[in-house]
Amino acid sequence: MRRAAVIFALSVFIPSLVLGWLALRSLRDQRLAFERQRFQLAQEAADAVASALAAEVDELGRELGRQTEAILGTNAPESAAWTFDEQLRAAWPPAEVGFAVQLDREVCSPSVFDPRGKSQAFHRNNRDFLIGLQSVEVFALTPKGRINLSAPPVRPQPKVTPTDQFRNVLPEQAPGIPSQALNSKLQTAKADFTQLVGDAQEGVIARRLGDQIKILVWHRSARDARFVFGAQLDRDNLVHRLATRLNNDPALSEEFGMALLDEHAHPLVRRPEALSVQQWRHPFAAAEIGEALPNWEVAVYERDPGRPAAVAIAFQWTLGTLVVGLLAIIGTGGWLVFRDTDRERRLARRRSDFVGNVSHELKTPLTSIRMYAEMLSEDRVPDPERRRQHLGVIAAEAARLSRLVEGMLDFARLERGDTVAAATNPIDLSSVIRPALEVHRSRLQEEGIAIRCAFPSHLPCVRADPDAITQILVNLISNVEKYAVSGRELVVELEAVPEPDAGPGYVLLRVGDRGPGVPPSDQERIFEEFYRVHDALDSGVTGAGLGLALARRLARAQGGELLHRPREGGGSWFVLKLPMA
Ligand code: ADP
Repeated sequence: MRRAAVIFALSVFIPSLVLGWLALRSLRDQRLAFERQRFQLAQEAADAVASALAAEVDELGRELGRQTEAILGTNAPESAAWTFDEQLRAAWPPAEVGFAVQLDREVCSPSVFDPRGKSQAFHRNNRDFLIGLQSVEVFALTPKGRINLSAPPVRPQPKVTPTDQFRNVLPEQAPGIPSQALNSKLQTAKADFTQLVGDAQEGVIARRLGDQIKILVWHRSARDARFVFGAQLDRDNLVHRLATRLNNDPALSEEFGMALLDEHAHPLVRRPEALSVQQWRHPFAAAEIGEALPNWEVAVYERDPGRPAAVAIAFQWTLGTLVVGLLAIIGTGGWLVFRDTDRERRLARRRSDFVGNVSHELKTPLTSIRMYAEMLSEDRVPDPERRRQHLGVIAAEAARLSRLVEGMLDFARLERGDTVAAATNPIDLSSVIRPALEVHRSRLQEEGIAIRCAFPSHLPCVRADPDAITQILVNLISNVEKYAVSGRELVVELEAVPEPDAGPGYVLLRVGDRGPGVPPSDQERIFEEFYRVHDALDSGVTGAGLGLALARRLARAQGGELLHRPREGGGSWFVLKLPMA
């Protein structure tokens, strides 16, 4: 038993548990991989749009170059420089302020005397920087890439300030992505305009002024390298230009929305335009546009943040339930196999008990028969009365032997699956019970067992085989003789139980005694083949444990049932239940 349990645990239960655990783990990993993939998709979309926007700013730089050359026309840069602001703004709307600088000397345009507030502010903020008197913190780009500040060296290493290490908008932490990977790579450097221009022809400079980012694009004419022409870009115009480039990938647009955020993480452009987000500062993924437009970001938002989680959870639940269900099936199947094996094992043990019992049963009468037969054959019993008695014993024991063999043959027949003849004629049970009882009456009375019968005057018929009913009754009576003689009573009752709701009802045959009864735990098992209650085994009462098993099979073959019920006041009831005809 213990061995079977260990084998079951090792071969079925533990592997199933391990498999289930692995399946659940891989489910969790799959969910993480799914989330990571989503994040990567969103991040790639943000990166792609951010570089498109950076290219648009570069394009503005090139446009400025063309505008400048057109304004200069055939004139020398020196003569056009003084009216450059007015001419540029008239021709090119992206310019908020146009400027012309003679490097290291003076700002030619806009004029110091220009009454426009924007021109005056431009002077205030940029004059010293433009003519090389002041170094300011800038993000700078030339067409060759990020400006090289090592020649001439302003500082051996560009100064990296901690605030520049991170974006304004910190994207949500995505599972499996290290937080460093989300840091901004943009750095600022302190330099004046002359240093930034160096020997390049054009470039973009972004600087923080107050709480705003200002973008300066500049161009140097090949005709006179001392003059640099440029423009401070108009913010509204710039946003308008960038809006045309902010296109969300249609494949993602169902799941994600996109926005262009300014340096304060305020949405300037939204895709779709109706996109509404509770916290603009917490996008799902984001990309900074670059040195050309620092601290402006392309941010990607989940349109329904609960949905992917709900889908993933539903998926996980479905698979999880499946795994648990399969485990339960394996467990139940294993348990059934285990129970079946255990039943077989118990049956095998009972069979071996049975062989012992039967041998004993056969041996007892055979011994008496042999002994008396020998005595008679050797003429050792002269008294004719004694001889008759001995012959009587031989006949009785031979009858017992044949009953035993018959019982075993009956059982073997039923065991093989041969059905008992199904009865077709309705019979009155009392007409079968009465004569069967009469056969045993005198013997029972000799044993001191009083017979009490209670048969109603009218009883509905049942459809049953009279021989089968007689055999059931005989087996029950024989058990009363074997196990319940002490009660000195045998009660046989018949009763009709109509069932108005379900079918025609039943006729009950009850056989009761006042013997020791059957322990509650054995009340079902006594009907199993070869099963004998321990007390019966110890008492020396012979038996093979087949009588009740056979009786129950006969009852069921008639469409009925045989049950044991404890009797109030001690003893047993054996109840045969047969459906009315
Ligand atoms: P057997 O009599 O050969 O042992 P049965 O199938 O007739 O086999 O009975 C099974 C067991 O049920 C018996 O061993 C006995 O312990 C118990 N039993 C049967 N009838 C009675 C009864 N009237 N009173 C108490 N125990 C009984």
